[in-house]
Amino acid sequence: MGAEDRDLEPTGDDAPPIPLHAVRAATPPVIDRQGVRAAVTDLLTALGRDPRGAHLADTPRRVADAYAELLTPREFDLTTFPNDGDYEEMVFVRDVPFSSLCEHHLLPFMGVAHIAYLPGQRILGLSKLARVLDYCARDLQVQERLTTQVADWLEERLAPRGVGVVLEAEHLCMSLRGVQAKGTTTVTSALRGSLRDDHRRRDEFLSMAGVRR
Ligand code: ZN
Repeated sequence: MGAEDRDLEPTGDDAPPIPLHAVRAATPPVIDRQGVRAAVTDLLTALGRDPRGAHLADTPRRVADAYAELLTPREFDLTTFPNDGDYEEMVFVRDVPFSSLCEHHLLPFMGVAHIAYLPGQRILGLSKLARVLDYCARDLQVQERLTTQVADWLEERLAPRGVGVVLEAEHLCMSLRGVQAKGTTTVTSALRGSLRDDHRRRDEFLSMAGVRR
């Protein structure tokens, strides 16, 4: 086993947390709140509004704070446990709510995720599935990339026998503007290992995820 392989090994309870920045394209960008405030003031002016109005006076600060919150990933410790019961079946977490910001319009998209894995040597604390989704979602995203990032993260950090991720989301850029297709759901999926290659496993996952209703 080379040094590279060891870097990808899942950690135990007492191991130091794995730096999670690797799952995103780069270290999260530094947010210049003063710069965002000035830009929002300019935006309001360009939209024909008076940024000194009673309701708008503090809007640039509120918008800067909101973007900083939405775009700053929340760090968490990765907790894995030995799979000492030799559990072989799928671990499936359904209807995990999430929201993110569409990179193309800076408008939210939101929905639910269904995340599953087939355990190898380690199992994951269940809340961590929601944590990694939230970590990746606090970014300017497209749904396709968010889906593959969650699958890649689980594959690399947990070394399971298979991973399945399905996201169902409504995009406000599609429901409030443009075609105004309210209630439209976009479904994306990423399958790895046995959940991709073994037809029985894949069908089981997709039917549990409700993709084949
Ligand atoms: Zn969009």
